[in-house]
Amino acid sequence: MENQPIGRACFVCGSAAGVRMFDQAIEVCGLGPVRYGLRCCDGCGLVLQDPAVSPQTMARQYAMFSNYLAFGDGDPPLSSTAARMLDCVARADLKPGRVYDVGAAAGFMLWHLRAQGWKVGGCDPSPAAVAQAKARFGVELDTGTGEITLKDHAGLDLVTMSHVLEHIYDPAAALGVVRAALAEGGHLLIEVPCLTAPEINPPGLFMMEHLNYFEAGSLKNLLSGAGFEIVDSEVTLDFFPFPVITVLARKASATGGAGLVNGFADNLRFLETYAGVDAERWRSVDARLRSALAEGEEVYVWGAGIHTSTLLTRTSLETWANILAITDRDSQKHGHRLGHHPVVEPDAALQSGRKIVISSYVSEKAIAASLGGQGVAPDRNVRLYT
Ligand SMILES: [Zn+2]
Repeated sequence: MENQPIGRACFVCGSAAGVRMFDQAIEVCGLGPVRYGLRCCDGCGLVLQDPAVSPQTMARQYAMFSNYLAFGDGDPPLSSTAARMLDCVARADLKPGRVYDVGAAAGFMLWHLRAQGWKVGGCDPSPAAVAQAKARFGVELDTGTGEITLKDHAGLDLVTMSHVLEHIYDPAAALGVVRAALAEGGHLLIEVPCLTAPEINPPGLFMMEHLNYFEAGSLKNLLSGAGFEIVDSEVTLDFFPFPVITVLARKASATGGAGLVNGFADNLRFLETYAGVDAERWRSVDARLRSALAEGEEVYVWGAGIHTSTLLTRTSLETWANILAITDRDSQKHGHRLGHHPVVEPDAALQSGRKIVISSYVSEKAIAASLGGQGVAPDRNVRLYT
């Protein structure tokens, strides 16, 4: 099977056992059915994808649809993530030196660090992002993942990884490469989604691109095992759409320092509570769909992302209504299929006079406003959350 999942051992403690949940096969735009699930590791409590989306399937997904390019001109805006990371650097009173940003995208955060006196470098797997960083900001990036590109660097004072560790298959190995590239006493600054407060997490939290799920305990295990001591750690609950944790760590003199924190009970409780919250939310979405649409009504669905993949799995939309097509603003998706539905240009939906199901948790309001601006009457919008 083309999208056959793979098994994974825990990269913190090595165990391949634990409690498995959320095992599902969803139809993904352009890929067909993709199966993955989660495991809460019995050895240390880490939550990781297992069975996991294979590296081949993931590479096809990123090659077709990754979109981290920057729009607009002028100085780059300071994202809330970059602001938290810069605050963390300031709190620790790190003196500007050589910084390397792994997963730098178009170089936004490096632009801000350079303005503070840092000598900047970094990498990104997307050639388009690397080209944009150079053209727009004069920031020279290496093309590739940090596991490869950092092997050509040494003596760095700071390595930053913003929303990277949740995307890679072996974070422990990656941090080993980071450690080797850092000077003695050098620092690592990371931010990742944080498993906490299950009731405020969004539907579809366990997206296919997120291979690993962290909180304070599992990050401590990972970092101390890889030879880092935590200097600063901050959880932000009101980051949208999910809480995040920002951690600054210093290169320690040896690897494998502290004993393991076992987060099994806490993380299993998170997963069970989230499962209940999530099930209730999809029941409510299903009720909204059935009250907004007549049985058999012809509709368009706006959004060909993972939210729609999940919507089709978790609600009765496909059997209740007649989906004419799925549409998306991203032209890379046009001409593909999501399940058996074609993904078409927005014009077909806009000009049809049919209702449009807005399939996005993160951008529902913005999409509704944009549709209004394109002449879609408010009563044609089917909103699922707001
Ligand atoms: Zn483990």
